[in-house]
Amino acid sequence: MVPFLNPALKAFSESIGAGRVLVEVWIRPLASGFELRHRDDVDRPVESLESVFTGDLRRISRTTPAGSFRPNKAAPGLQRGWNCRIQSLAELGIAIDHLYPGGIPDWYAAWQGNPPVTGFREFAARQTGLYRITTLLPGPLANRTIRACCSARFCLRRRLWTAPDLEPDGAAEKSDLPCLEPCALLLDLARRAMKLAQEEKITLPLAAGDLAVLVTALDRALDAGPAGGREGNTSDPANPRRLQLLLENLRGQLPTDAANTEEATKQ
Ligand code: SF4
Repeated sequence: MVPFLNPALKAFSESIGAGRVLVEVWIRPLASGFELRHRDDVDRPVESLESVFTGDLRRISRTTPAGSFRPNKAAPGLQRGWNCRIQSLAELGIAIDHLYPGGIPDWYAAWQGNPPVTGFREFAARQTGLYRITTLLPGPLANRTIRACCSARFCLRRRLWTAPDLEPDGAAEKSDLPCLEPCALLLDLARRAMKLAQEEKITLPLAAGDLAVLVTALDRALDAGPAGGREGNTSDPANPRRLQLLLENLRGQLPTDAANTEEATKQ
């Protein structure tokens, strides 16, 4: 009997060629099987890397190098310093699923063309209970929330779904691992954004130049890395996605001149 070959896995293996990167993982074919390592470790001698088994990849993808939990496995910052040799195509599928859950079926759906995507409004309309509030997000705030949550600072999946007036991510911005519908982190940030929008507002007299300083400071703080807030907890004001959301909201308040100055400062 001819063994069944998963078509998604077969198409993915054919895309490997002499070697390819999937998000942050370098994959290359061996005479028998495949080798995986972090893409930034490609030039390191194999003896300097920890040899791990396929099952260890789940542990490696679960935490950051500093030991914090990674709720989004496609977040930048996968641990380095390991090397995994696997024997078969089936094992390659398991390895990639440990690193990027659901990655091969999603990649295959996009590779085939016209993947099934669920846009933000359709996704929000399905929510019940605590998350029903996300249907109330006004369009501009929904767009800023999505830009904040799906920023390449936090996620390397290429967002293919849209919201009104918000295009999908460009092909070169992140990776060829697609995102086909909003994830739990997006849903949680959308709920937080709506709750913050419903809070009573304070008036803060601020010169446009000082607002530009605030925007630049936030941007640089986010560039510098995690502020210590837990990634999955948006009730924490130090949560990095909340900082990014505030940055998006403040940018929307910048007068055009100040926005240009801020853009020039970044270059
Ligand atoms: S919804 Fe955004 S943050 Fe979540 S997996 Fe998709 S692209 Fe990444």
